[in-house]
Amino acid sequence: MPSIVPFVGPETLERKRGAAYQTRIGANESAFGAAPSVLAALQREMSRSAWYCDPEHHDLRQKLATTMAVQPQNLVVGEGIDGLLGLIVRAFLNPGETVVSSLGAYPTFNYHVAGFGGRLALVPYSQSCHNDVDALLAKARQTKAKLLYLANPDNPTGTFLGRGVIEQILANLPDDCLFVFDEAYVEFAPQDGLAPLDVSDPRLIRLRTFSKAHGLAGLRVGYGIAHERIIADFNKIRSHFGVGRLSQIAATASLDDPQFIASVIAQVAQGRSDYEDLADRLGLNKIRSLTNFLAIDLESEARSRKMVELLDQRGIFVRRPAVPQLGRFVRITVGQTEERARFCAGFESALKEL
Ligand SMILES: *Cc1c(COP(=O)(O)O)cnc(C)c1O
Repeated sequence: MPSIVPFVGPETLERKRGAAYQTRIGANESAFGAAPSVLAALQREMSRSAWYCDPEHHDLRQKLATTMAVQPQNLVVGEGIDGLLGLIVRAFLNPGETVVSSLGAYPTFNYHVAGFGGRLALVPYSQSCHNDVDALLAKARQTKAKLLYLANPDNPTGTFLGRGVIEQILANLPDDCLFVFDEAYVEFAPQDGLAPLDVSDPRLIRLRTFSKAHGLAGLRVGYGIAHERIIADFNKIRSHFGVGRLSQIAATASLDDPQFIASVIAQVAQGRSDYEDLADRLGLNKIRSLTNFLAIDLESEARSRKMVELLDQRGIFVRRPAVPQLGRFVRITVGQTEERARFCAGFESALKEL
């Protein structure tokens, strides 16, 4: 098994550089935090921290079911999408079997695949930095893949495929292959561009999270929506106390505050357009994004690498994709107004130094 680190955390980098970052806009966390109503719910629950959580996540699954018009038995809650990805690989992949994903897509999935002895077949992005669905399907059929992974909207590109994509994939999936559809950024996508939640096909699982728009990345809550047969398999192997009391309370409370989420989505759209304006003004290309981040094109891998370094020197944490095809980009998370101003000034001065 290769020794893989999916991400070097900003805390690790801070220990290495000997100082905290002033502006942390590298991990697509929400700069807008959790709702005040969520923080109040956490305060109220804090004194009950001596007790284990509800191992069935009953209230949270009930609330999710109502919100999304599915049944609680179509929902599994886990330690973020990351935790659920690990369970998917454990439940549905035997050592030596093949998994298909895009080359440069979300690396935590690949990390789990390696850990369970799976074989990765990776497909390059298209010229326009979209997931190449036809090529992914061809590769899945050719390798008799057991899992096909796709993030939509995508990370690290921010690109989005419209509502036909699920149907297209299910119509062409090889036998015995589970389609893992990672919708970590779904709240930022146009809601009329999403395929309706249909849990009738046991070859599909959709994954969502409270880490992005809901601003709860540190509390680790994600969920999967699928046919009840798939959910039943999770229940055989999942960890029962992994999503703690406070995490469950926070996620449930956040679903009760859609107004706050709507305001986050609006602020993120504004922030993304500030970044786009910056790129335009400086004559740089960017990938049109429907997420809380923007990938800006520095025209070469060397320049992008140097840019991350120069921003680091200015106390600004951003990341860049690791694979050659996307290596010329830097990926910047939408920050609050002051963070964006600091980033824009830092980026412009760093660009002069490049
Ligand atoms: C951020 C992110 C995740 C991680 O979600 P958690 O629920 O925090 O584990 C999963 N997939 C993609 C594509 C992401 O960008």
